[in-house]
Amino acid sequence: MKRIAVLTSGGDAPGMNAAIRAVARAGNSRGVEVFGVRWGYEGLIEGNFRPLGPRDVGGIIQSGGTILGSARSLEFKTDEGRKLALDNLASAGIEGLVVIGGNGSQTGAYTLHQLGFPVVGVASTIDNDLVGSDMTIGVDTALNIALEAIDRLKVTASSHRRAFLVEVMGRDCGYLAVMSAIAGGAEMAIIPEVVTTPEDIAHTLTSSYERGKTNGIVVVAEGAAQNAGELLAALRPREKELGFEIRATTLGHIQRGGAPGAFDRILASRLGTMAAELLIDGTSGVLVGQKSSKLTTTPHEEVAGKTKPIDLALLRLAEILTG
Ligand code: ATP
Repeated sequence: MKRIAVLTSGGDAPGMNAAIRAVARAGNSRGVEVFGVRWGYEGLIEGNFRPLGPRDVGGIIQSGGTILGSARSLEFKTDEGRKLALDNLASAGIEGLVVIGGNGSQTGAYTLHQLGFPVVGVASTIDNDLVGSDMTIGVDTALNIALEAIDRLKVTASSHRRAFLVEVMGRDCGYLAVMSAIAGGAEMAIIPEVVTTPEDIAHTLTSSYERGKTNGIVVVAEGAAQNAGELLAALRPREKELGFEIRATTLGHIQRGGAPGAFDRILASRLGTMAAELLIDGTSGVLVGQKSSKLTTTPHEEVAGKTKPIDLALLRLAEILTG
């Protein structure tokens, strides 16, 4: 291959820039020209490409977000959209593509592979729900940002004997919620995978209050059956019975924008380099990820349209450790 491209797609994740840098520099070091595609699959459809030389990706390893931009493209899900994308790639002389993103993005990558265009994926989403990688780029940083917020909320909660419903990201997957509950010392995590009623939460908080706790933290995944605002509405009238005053905080996009930590920078550097090298050497239709600390490839066929189930034993761990 003489010319490859790289794009970021889906929700941005801290470390995507480090992955772009790795793809560009690994490609350049093999004498291959690397192009960045602006705005995810939308940029393929519009032919929005820009060259990425070694200096173009300088000074970005430490930045959150993605210098290429990301988007959710409905048009790419159509046959016409994908045809336009392939025509634009051919006109630009681009022979292979690295797709940095989560579930939907890797499903899109698989469709290109099925159409005969060489694609390698890089596992990156703060949801950590991608089959084919124990950890995806961005999760560790997002988790640390959530933890910083939870630690602060605990301080003010203790000063007022309050309970906080803290909403973290996770539309379909409770990984961030469960892990931030364990690491943040929360009472419980409310996740999409398990039905938890306001009654269950009331029971846990009452019990915590009776055991002498001065604060109660309940981490709620945004995709749970009821979000933090709805749970607040259900629990606030019961404050007297619970002991704690109830408040709710939604962390929202704050979790995405942080500078990537060491773990994500290193993971992104390793995965991005491997993806570029595999692509150049003729591999297509695989996702590059990390399992048991080793870099791995998983066929896109096994990744597309699937989600990695969460280990529900982790919920019990959070519960036991509340003391
Ligand atoms: P995250 O979950 O971290 O936000 P993601 O990659 O799962 O990341 P999605 O919004 O699900 O984000 O997908 C990103 C883009 O991938 C979509 O906007 C669309 O362009 C493309 N895509 C998703 N599913 C398909 C599909 N079945 N066929 C073709 N393209 C798809």
